[in-house]
Amino acid sequence: MARYTGPVCRLCRREGCKLFLKGERCNQDDKCALGRTGAKGVRPAPGMHKNVRKKESSYANQLREKQKTKRIYGLGEKQFHKYYEMAERMRGATGENMLILIERRLDNVIYKMGIADSRAQARQLITHGHFVVNGKKVNIPSYLTKAGDEIMVKAEKQDIPYFKELKAAKIENMAAWVDFDAEKLTGHVKALPTRQDINMDIAEHKIVELYSK
Ligand code: SF4
Repeated sequence: MARYTGPVCRLCRREGCKLFLKGERCNQDDKCALGRTGAKGVRPAPGMHKNVRKKESSYANQLREKQKTKRIYGLGEKQFHKYYEMAERMRGATGENMLILIERRLDNVIYKMGIADSRAQARQLITHGHFVVNGKKVNIPSYLTKAGDEIMVKAEKQDIPYFKELKAAKIENMAAWVDFDAEKLTGHVKALPTRQDINMDIAEHKIVELYSK
């Protein structure tokens, strides 16, 4: 399935929660469609009438959880299901393994290092060939990182305005399992993430229940 390119705030309204798809804007209540309050309040989800939300069946509930998770990470159905299949073959809890595999994607790692404002922006930076992983050029957003990987902005790209600004920026909210030295434009995957590191509200067991039907 092609990647969704429409208005992303619409996706948050559809899921009824913040998916953090627009970077810094998502943290500003006056700019976020779901943070906005006041006379009009939050707009209802697309296709729904205000304050009318039908009780969902457990199937619909599981489906929504899958859609929400796919949207958070910007994944298509085929790609997402591939992570489920990989996770199923691993030891341990399938849902947890699936989320950890997705977190290890290079686009997510770049986002978690604070190099990009959103996963979509991280994907764009990667496909434009700005990074090397362990000294080798990688332009595939789904590249699966591992503990100890070194991710660096390519030497010849370090002078472009985006990275020059990044060097001077104060990076906040970096995930605990990565590091990033803005001056050197170099970061590391210190350790693989654990379920506790994934701070999004995702009920992965519902996705497993859906796929294992
Ligand atoms: Fe979602 Fe961010 Fe838009 Fe808010 S600003 S609705 S969190 S994409």
